[in-house]
Amino acid sequence: MSLREFLRPVRIVLVDTALPENIGSAARAMKTMGLSDLALVRPKLFPDQRANALAAGADDVLEQARIAESLTDAIADCVHAVGCTARLRDIRLPMFEPAAAAQELVTQTRRGPVALVFGAERTGLTNEDLSRCDAAVHIPTEADFSSLNLAQAVQVLAYCVRNAALTEQALPAIPAEPREDPPATIEQMERMFGHFEEALTEIDFFKGRPYGHLMQRLRRMLHRADLDSREVMILRGILAEAQRMARLAAGAVNK
Ligand code: SAH
Repeated sequence: MSLREFLRPVRIVLVDTALPENIGSAARAMKTMGLSDLALVRPKLFPDQRANALAAGADDVLEQARIAESLTDAIADCVHAVGCTARLRDIRLPMFEPAAAAQELVTQTRRGPVALVFGAERTGLTNEDLSRCDAAVHIPTEADFSSLNLAQAVQVLAYCVRNAALTEQALPAIPAEPREDPPATIEQMERMFGHFEEALTEIDFFKGRPYGHLMQRLRRMLHRADLDSREVMILRGILAEAQRMARLAAGAVNK
């Protein structure tokens, strides 16, 4: 398989980017490393001449960029997503250094599209955006000055992804681990988390208490479980049954 083919399923996602210059520089960084799939979530100014100026010949990456209304939409079809964060915060996600994150991304491309997700210049990724990811990656820096320019962070990680793909390409092709059912996509995972929230509310599991923390733990646990689409359906079947029972019980009490 050619290097391009290894890299084709790797999507770079930029969320809430304020400066078109950064979008252009990111496209240039991607193209130098052989990446071409760019998704922009709510870019402030795009298309914009300043993006093209900084792309310096990577205009094709900009032209093909998909625009999305939400991060979930941008990575709906992905089987693995990694959030890039400048801060080592309490995010309850497995945290990787760049080479390890890149290796896992390249390995997962055997199963479907994968994404590297970058936050806005001023604020970075929200905790909500990070909770949609399977893991986080931090480029090691000086402890008191950890925030790289957005496009430079894209460059570092794109380089690591290229290196990981080169290593993978040099290895003898081992067939992907046979699994009967396709991996769960981010969209299926998000629908399942929505269903969990709805059903757990309906069976009064939360007892009126705030449940954000518990949902975060559930998210982390179920992302770690590497579910396939049938397993998601099984869990949702259990939830639906619990909802049915709760409705029956409520009906009996009301009689
Ligand atoms: N002030 C923001 C940083 C935003 S920099 C904050 O404190 O979170 C814009 C984006 O570049 C970040 O959201 C992240 O995706 C990426 N980035 C910057 N520095 C990084 C680092 N050291 N490791 C990983 N990603 C980084």
